[in-house]
Amino acid sequence: MSTEPGLRMTPQRKVILQALRKLRTHPSADEIYAVVRKRLPRISLGTVYRNLEILSELGEIQKIESGGALRRFDGNPENHYHIRCTCCGKVVDAPFAVMPHMEEKIDGATGFVVFGHHLEFLGLCPECREKPISPGLRRLTR
Ligand code: ZN
Ligand code: MN
Repeated sequence: MSTEPGLRMTPQRKVILQALRKLRTHPSADEIYAVVRKRLPRISLGTVYRNLEILSELGEIQKIESGGALRRFDGNPENHYHIRCTCCGKVVDAPFAVMPHMEEKIDGATGFVVFGHHLEFLGLCPECREKPISPGLRRLTR
């Protein structure tokens, strides 16, 4: 955890952190902004973005980034796995613990020093799997 002066827990930052910790939906910055604005009506979206970056650097939250998809945030800083809906972008926690033995295996096999890993499953959420979809996609998901 950094001790740089800019990275202390300010009151604004605390409100953002508390809001994110309460949400289980892995919200985007816009969604967090909408919640935080109820308590801090004068806060700007830019300030929310900046504070989310800092909270992530502090290790208090996680950024969920996956190629091209909307960036989402997670109030749970511990490593855990997600499943993402490729149709609507919803992100849900996987119902099992991380698998640390995978890191031992890959560092033995590649000679890398392994710091960690992220794992994301892809699929269609319960709502999206009921939507009428193109024949091509239906073929893929049947
Ligand atoms: Zn969906
Ligand atoms: Mn999560």
